[in-house]
Amino acid sequence: MILIDGKKIANDIRSEIKEKVEQIKFKTNSVPCLATILVGENPASRVYINSKIKACQECGVKSVHHNLKSNSSKEEIINLINQLNINPKISAILLQLPFSDAQTEQECINAISPNKDADGLHPFNAGLLTLFKSQKEISQNNVLTSCTPTGIIRLLQKSDIEIAGKTAVVAGRSNLVGKPASLLLLANDATVIMAHSKTKNLKELCKSADILITAVGKPQFINKDFIKDGAAVIDVGINRTENGLVGDIDFDSVKDMNIKITPVPGGVGPMTIAMLLENTLKAYRRNL
Ligand code: NAD
Repeated sequence: MILIDGKKIANDIRSEIKEKVEQIKFKTNSVPCLATILVGENPASRVYINSKIKACQECGVKSVHHNLKSNSSKEEIINLINQLNINPKISAILLQLPFSDAQTEQECINAISPNKDADGLHPFNAGLLTLFKSQKEISQNNVLTSCTPTGIIRLLQKSDIEIAGKTAVVAGRSNLVGKPASLLLLANDATVIMAHSKTKNLKELCKSADILITAVGKPQFINKDFIKDGAAVIDVGINRTENGLVGDIDFDSVKDMNIKITPVPGGVGPMTIAMLLENTLKAYRRNL
């Protein structure tokens, strides 16, 4: 087993971002600014927001946090988003998910200006991801793409794992991870299989994968019987158990296999934050 060190790759990207921010500051005497919004006090969301704010500070990106009460109305949240949309000092807006109500969540995402959409979840950006045929087109058009899937592609590239022509299986079809990960793999010329809770033959499909992405959210759900010899395995799952954080992969069962794999923690998580910083920079340029 070879570990894909997401923490190291993310740190390298963060150093590059820090340099770019310093150059922007030198030229314009201003820096990109990320506005973060947390509705309520979900402890896990609070931890995620704090690490995002800390990452901004470390890279010289400004951040402004808004904590709204858990009983805030949809109108109050959208009102705040509208103010941030028109504020020229704000480059990008991150709405911490999930919301307790999926309908309100989508309406609030829809209210974010597509040019300030830090997580690439606005229908306009999600739509562009489906329309552009290649990663080259997506990159050239500065499309804001969802942070975790973008981080997955970057992990594969930085680890010299070829994507073009390979069979990639993505377990999970959420708008946040599974769906955009599948579209980005497609744009990078993989042959993509999207698996989900109704998939009947998950084990066989996973076993066919040169690249296996698991974004299911079930602790140690996938073991060695699901994985092909020589595969690259990206474990997106973050599951809190009595034994601490674990992924969707039963790590002990695969540790003697000839595979490349991301650990949990220290794999995809740090890349998500690095891509959020990159998106903030991208949004800054889009709003100039
Ligand atoms: P989600 O609950 O929205 O989606 C889970 C997906 O798993 C669904 O699409 C569902 O169809 C699929 N699924 C459920 N049971 C299945 C089964 N038996 N076989 C195949 N598929 C099945 O979750 P999400 O937001 O996509 O997140 C998935 C996991 O990734 C969670 O553990 C989450 O904490 C983690 N996550 C990690 C990061 C990170 O930065 N590392 C970012 C986002 C999410």
